[in-house]
Amino acid sequence: MKVSVNAVMKYMEELAPLSVALPGDPVGLQVGNPSSIVDSIMVALDPDLETIEEAIKKKAQMIITHHPLIYNKLSSINEAGPRGSLVARAIRNNLHIYSAHTNFDVTRGGVSYRLAEALGLPVKNASVLEVTGSEQLLKLVVFVPKGHEDRILDALARAGAGQIGRYSHCTFQTMGTGTFMPAADTNPFIGSKGELEKVSEIRLETILPVTRRKTIISDLIKHHPYEEVAYDLYPLDLEGDEIGLGLLIDLEEELSFDQLINRCLTNLSTNTLRYSINDREGFRRIALCGGSGGSLIEHAARQNADVLISGDFRYHDLKDAQALNIALIDAGHHATELPGVKYLKDYLQHKLEDEGYGVEVHLQALTPAGWSCT
Ligand SMILES: [Zn+2]
Repeated sequence: MKVSVNAVMKYMEELAPLSVALPGDPVGLQVGNPSSIVDSIMVALDPDLETIEEAIKKKAQMIITHHPLIYNKLSSINEAGPRGSLVARAIRNNLHIYSAHTNFDVTRGGVSYRLAEALGLPVKNASVLEVTGSEQLLKLVVFVPKGHEDRILDALARAGAGQIGRYSHCTFQTMGTGTFMPAADTNPFIGSKGELEKVSEIRLETILPVTRRKTIISDLIKHHPYEEVAYDLYPLDLEGDEIGLGLLIDLEEELSFDQLINRCLTNLSTNTLRYSINDREGFRRIALCGGSGGSLIEHAARQNADVLISGDFRYHDLKDAQALNIALIDAGHHATELPGVKYLKDYLQHKLEDEGYGVEVHLQALTPAGWSCT
């Protein structure tokens, strides 16, 4: 079964909601038609000429990228310019291009989490380096026939509901009586058609992050015994977990300079690194940010990080880091974001399979960033 561009956009927004993107970042559908149908998708870091040509060759009709195709506003689509020629090429070939940029940078489980995972660093107790917002929370109330509450509680917890700080499976449950009358064309789990039924039910209440809403409700419906599930969702005036740029990770045992550098070279798609270690020998508090992390040097130093791993550091970033006594490892913008791109491909592929779509999801051939080094 093919999928609509609109459905793919919804699945992407479950992972990385547009609302958490940094101000002015043009995330979402950049080129295309939400009501079109596609059966092949390509995931890539950049919507560049190489990606567009590869999508055309592989007959992918939709491209999902991290970096937006149109970042600065276009006043014309002039094919003599680099941006105009890409937009025209995409439109002429009926391609739909969607970008999850800073919304995927800041979301929990986004770019920096995937970089940490690729480097074998623990993210369980990681904190955000620069907070840009917090997850929005909802209250869920669902009515469950007595005896089925543990199964529902377990399904909700596994889908991501009921998490308060380091406590999972948080709910409040009260007993009561539910009433309903099944219509002639129903198949009731309890009761008979046309008769008023009174059932001992549990009112089970819990909280959930808005980003997990679709998955949690779909799992709730899958595990609830009733044909029609009665539930309510309420907005809450509460701050959820912090989200933002970069991560700060404390290691139980420090890594030596050689160990840390070797992990970067072995686990990331790069064979060149720049670094400034300020005479440090071991690293225990590690800050990292996929992409371009120069703006996070002060945040990392203020939080006593030993090192910041990122890409695109400038000369003046180096001078700031030296003054603040924090080491830098520059593994490249491209290499530090690729783990996130690979994750996007896996996420989308599994999501579409789970939803019953027979859609191919390709990862763009991950060639090096394009620099040559001597
Ligand atoms: Zn980037």
